[in-house]
Amino acid sequence: MSNISINMDESYRRLSQNDSQLLQGKKALVRVDFNVPMTNGKIDDDSRIKGALPTIQYLLDNNCAVVILSHLGRPKGKVVESLRLDPIAQRLEELLGRTVKKMNACIGEEIQNAKKSLTSGEVLLLENTRFYSEETHNIASFSRELAENMDFFVQDAFGCVHRAHASVEGVTHFLPSMMGLLVEKEFEALKGVFINRKKPLTLLIGGAKIDTKIGVIRNFLPIADTILIGGGLANTFFNAKGYDVKDSLVEIDKASTALSILQDAGEEACQILLPRDFVVAKDISDTAETRVLNRKNGDLMNDGEKILDIGPETIQQFSEVIANSQTVIWNGPAGLFEFSPFANGTKELGKAIEDNNNTTIVGGGDSVDAINRFGFDETKFSHISTGGGAMLEFLEGKMLPGISALKKSHEL
Ligand code: ADP
Ligand code: MG
Repeated sequence: MSNISINMDESYRRLSQNDSQLLQGKKALVRVDFNVPMTNGKIDDDSRIKGALPTIQYLLDNNCAVVILSHLGRPKGKVVESLRLDPIAQRLEELLGRTVKKMNACIGEEIQNAKKSLTSGEVLLLENTRFYSEETHNIASFSRELAENMDFFVQDAFGCVHRAHASVEGVTHFLPSMMGLLVEKEFEALKGVFINRKKPLTLLIGGAKIDTKIGVIRNFLPIADTILIGGGLANTFFNAKGYDVKDSLVEIDKASTALSILQDAGEEACQILLPRDFVVAKDISDTAETRVLNRKNGDLMNDGEKILDIGPETIQQFSEVIANSQTVIWNGPAGLFEFSPFANGTKELGKAIEDNNNTTIVGGGDSVDAINRFGFDETKFSHISTGGGAMLEFLEGKMLPGISALKKSHEL
């Protein structure tokens, strides 16, 4: 692992290191990660909102006016009614105990006027940044409009710092910019983990964001001793190996990537374990009828069935690997844990990680939701990160654009 370098530079600007006199009466633009798991307009887990409270409170205590930016889900550059930030504004208002004015846009005259007339102690939440295609394309004119009428920028969206998006990276070109308290806490904790990591190191990866996670697996081949693959991600590997996954979540066009990862793993002396058995069902509900199939025994799926959790043999095998690891990094649930017939894999592997007294790190919105939902003892994990992809990229030793941008930023 000695060939991996990480930027541990201490010169990034931090909110916590500012002279509080400088902050008085200023207008702070804060990027947070309020991309919380939601079902039917209700917030499943508000950990990410709570995570941003210290920074928001710190700014308010220093008589700043605060304008908040976040994305939610993947609306792909269009307004999607179910992805408006109104439920989040309401929850934030409850948690802060003060009025949060929710706006229905991020840019435009109405927003600029609202920013101009803001006074100390006021909080404005702008609309979902990903309603604008300029956000993910990092368009400078959009970043400039976000920055207009503001005095400085605070990066507190740890879950997004691996993205060079307009509200994450672009905006730092137009305002003095610094790390918020959450990003600073994550940065310090993960830096510690990275420096002190011990082998054997196991990565447990699952979840649904296959397109982004498959690249992560490749990057971990030189770092991890074992990679355990669960969740929807495993289906892409099954499909690549010629197993018909029927109606399961799968990325057919990633088959060659999956096969080449398996091949490269051999060369890197990294063991990749795929589930031996899994739980299938036709419906996704709390009363779904399920079957356990074993791929190695040649069990086949029926039309209309989906793979929704790992099976008992896999749970046992993966739990043993976890128990024998000095470092465990976990991102992505092992199954569709939000429904009880498919919760077992995530619950049992979570328990195995909780029981491991060595270094254990968990990250990702849904993974943290699972930890809270199953009532795990948070103090038994070395670090629980609000970021999934960002945490993994940091632990790969990559430069994260949302953090490295804070170095070149000009004076307040
Ligand atoms: P995280 O937020 O922790 O990074 P992801 O967003 O990638 O994780 O994935 C979480 C989602 O993946 C959960 O909502 C879970 O229900 C879903 N999931 C896990 N396994 C499966 C599966 N086999 N089929 C469909 N969805 C799955
Ligand atoms: Mg998620």
